[in-house]
Amino acid sequence: MKDLRFGRLKCYSLHLGILPLTVLVLVFFCFVCLSLRSQEWGHPGAVNRKTVISLLWFFLGSQDHEQTGKAYPQPRVLTPTRTDVLVLTPWLAPIIWEGTFDIDTLNEQFRLRNTTIGLTVFAVKKYVVFLKLFLETAEQHFMVGHKVIYYVFTDRPADVPQVPLGAGRRLVVLTVRNYTRWQDVSMHRMEVISHFSEQRFRHEVDYLVCADVDMKFRDHVGVEILSALFGTLHPGFYRSRRESFTYERRPQSQAYIPWDQGDFYYMGAFFGGSVVEVHHLTKACHQAMVEDQANGIEAVWHDESHLNKYLLYHKPTKVLSPEYMWDQQLLGWPSIMKKLRYVAVPKNHQAIRN
Ligand code: UDP
Ligand code: MN
Repeated sequence: MKDLRFGRLKCYSLHLGILPLTVLVLVFFCFVCLSLRSQEWGHPGAVNRKTVISLLWFFLGSQDHEQTGKAYPQPRVLTPTRTDVLVLTPWLAPIIWEGTFDIDTLNEQFRLRNTTIGLTVFAVKKYVVFLKLFLETAEQHFMVGHKVIYYVFTDRPADVPQVPLGAGRRLVVLTVRNYTRWQDVSMHRMEVISHFSEQRFRHEVDYLVCADVDMKFRDHVGVEILSALFGTLHPGFYRSRRESFTYERRPQSQAYIPWDQGDFYYMGAFFGGSVVEVHHLTKACHQAMVEDQANGIEAVWHDESHLNKYLLYHKPTKVLSPEYMWDQQLLGWPSIMKKLRYVAVPKNHQAIRN
């Protein structure tokens, strides 16, 4: 479905680009012909043949330049962009830190593909209070200049705030049931995202970003994060050894990870990828949670434990640094963090969850 639409859009932009160019070339060609003829007739005001040819070269050259885009600093093979942090996993997925990417180049690439990004967020029960700040800051920092659809899942559709949206951005409210336990609200996100990926998202967007609502954007979060499958380093564990990761350690759970395994500890509050990959991930996590429930066990960190199990055996194609998931109140602002992009909003856990 999406591919068909893509094809049409590509043809359309091709026409838009080539038509004026063709007209210009034709006009210029006529001008050249006329000039050359008048020169042959020895017309006193005739343009010199050399001038015409160099003008033609200049014109074609400037057209070519326009297509290859803006100039940016050359990547230097012997000059790493960051030497203070790991920028590549052992399976060759980039780890996204400020200073490692050129946003103009990336924006151009994703705009050429007319990329649409879906941002899923759950605001169930009292968590609707977080929506306003979440959406307002997303308007300022999230995928600016690209097509965005916010998918807000809630049991209180009347409480979804009216936030003015930029061009090419829209919001869809989807009603979901609530659960008494906050753990169940959190875990059932996997089931809902899996269901909607198959039923709806794959017809409407190219990529999905799945986010917690008790957060705000405070700096740029753009297409540099997009890839087939991405996870985000948990800000509390990016310096830790794998033995201290809070993975599920009981072999009875489907989320079990042995002590001698594990790459990173990923945060459940920010992950995503192509619709197909997010569908696979959320479906697998949901099924694992159903199985756990049948066996009378619940993973220590709920959906996050299952996400970590999945990403250990299905390696992400990009990993987001803790710039994309931070808690300043808890962790301050260390110097390796050049930007704090998506940060926790302080909350009273007891009050908001009950
Ligand atoms: N959530 C919700 N209503 C609830 C509990 C959770 O909407 O009653 C959603 C909300 O999007 C929230 C996410 O589930 O951000 C995860 O829960 P929470 O943020 O409380 O977990 P934490 O980040 O504290 O581990
Ligand atoms: Mn949260």
